[in-house]
Amino acid sequence: MTSVFRDEHWIGGAFVPPESAERIGVENPYTEEVFGHVPAGTAEDVNLAVSAARAAFDGWAATPPAERGAALGRLHRALAARADEIARIVGLELGTPLKIAKAVQAGLPLTVLAGYAELAAQPPAEETIGNSLVVHEPAGVVGAITPWNYPLHQVVAKVGAALAAGCTVVLKPSELTPLTAYLLADAFAEAQLPPGVFNMVTGTGPAVGAAIAGHPDVDVVSFTGSTVTGRAISRAAADRIAKVSLELGGKSANVILEDADLIKAVKVGVGNAFLNSGQTCTAWTRMLVHRSHYDEAVELAAKTAAAYTVGDPFDPATRLGPLASAAQRERVRGFIERATARLVAGGLDAPVPSTGHFVAPTIFADVDPDSEIAQEEIFGPVLSIIPFGSDDEAVAIANNSKYGLAGAVWGSDERALAVARRLRTGAVDVNGGSFNPFAPFGGYKQSGVGRELGAYGLAEFQQVKAIQR
Ligand code: NAD
Repeated sequence: MTSVFRDEHWIGGAFVPPESAERIGVENPYTEEVFGHVPAGTAEDVNLAVSAARAAFDGWAATPPAERGAALGRLHRALAARADEIARIVGLELGTPLKIAKAVQAGLPLTVLAGYAELAAQPPAEETIGNSLVVHEPAGVVGAITPWNYPLHQVVAKVGAALAAGCTVVLKPSELTPLTAYLLADAFAEAQLPPGVFNMVTGTGPAVGAAIAGHPDVDVVSFTGSTVTGRAISRAAADRIAKVSLELGGKSANVILEDADLIKAVKVGVGNAFLNSGQTCTAWTRMLVHRSHYDEAVELAAKTAAAYTVGDPFDPATRLGPLASAAQRERVRGFIERATARLVAGGLDAPVPSTGHFVAPTIFADVDPDSEIAQEEIFGPVLSIIPFGSDDEAVAIANNSKYGLAGAVWGSDERALAVARRLRTGAVDVNGGSFNPFAPFGGYKQSGVGRELGAYGLAEFQQVKAIQR
């Protein structure tokens, strides 16, 4: 069995020993064996990392855009050389099936980083408003705190944007999937960026994450994860009025209108809901279907779910891997157990491999839009199907959520677009329009504050100055 032991943080351009000898084990959620460890960082480690980021800030902020772009280009090449290793490590520590690990877990962050290398090379836009020259400047030291479901993508979305804006960064990756982030630190070591522009301290949320969020010398806190933790981070940053951006949970609706291409809408919808074993914040976990096609849609969705191959992430035939942890599996099983809707696929008794944190692809029909499974983010392979009778009713059900991250609409183009405009979410895919890694990404309501990706993501790490003449 592969073992991966990492014993140092990445601070000030070097791998440095942690303050404490304590380690956090990393489990393979398929074999349930601990195959690696990383340092359990402390507030003292965070202080060192923030000092390094602060010391590097003025120099990096003043670096000409072409040079910053070239540096990020070198980083991209060093990371791209590790693409196969990224997919393998994500497979080991998260259980993502290999094909998806390669295409999404490794492919997406590489695309995003290449985009930020290009954006970094462009001088920030300036504009004249009356007698004011308006300029955009790097916001300072960024604290980045990330989750486990897309371990490298969520890191690169923050680190790439922050560095392109001229900020320096202290990152705390998720303690469940920290090994992938070490491949980024290795790429920094190879690409020879100025020491201190990127620093990484591993550890738990309460120890390292809270120390970053509450650090007086961190100017911007950028967080992705649960809404509960997002609230704690906002509170910690509020004391010193630090800038905060939050990418939180979702409960996205996939609205299938009466004139939709039903087969495509249902099949793509099920695939979206179960991607990464349902551990995707944008997952379309509520399928809203017009009554005229409702029974057909339920039958097709159930058949699609039943055809999923569940098992070893490294078997090329596998479509659905385990959940990230035993705790996550128990949480998801709890939602299924409490659900009172009509079970049409999967469920707690459906066969799954005996080791590994598996939950079978599960679908409930006739789900009450106000019930727990229709309201709470489950973060597992559980889809709720809900009928509606009119476009207005579909919009009302879709918007009946404390979240507003993503969604989809299927139907004739004009009509689907009209419904898409009425959804209170940060993104909507119409008739299978695919994810765009350069478009703004973020949430309405309790799904977050701010935007990531592309130029909008970069702007989160800038301050705006008006110079009157
Ligand atoms: P989490 O919010 O607990 O963890 C995310 C990150 O925040 C991790 O790095 C964690 O160590 C850190 N953290 C935890 N407590 C902290 C604190 N007090 N201060 C600072 N940092 C802290 O999320 P999780 O446990 O990884 O997942 C729990 C739930 O969150 C999931 O079931 C799911 O509903 C949701 N989630 C959403 C996303 C998303 O992309 N929107 C991603 C992962 C998880």
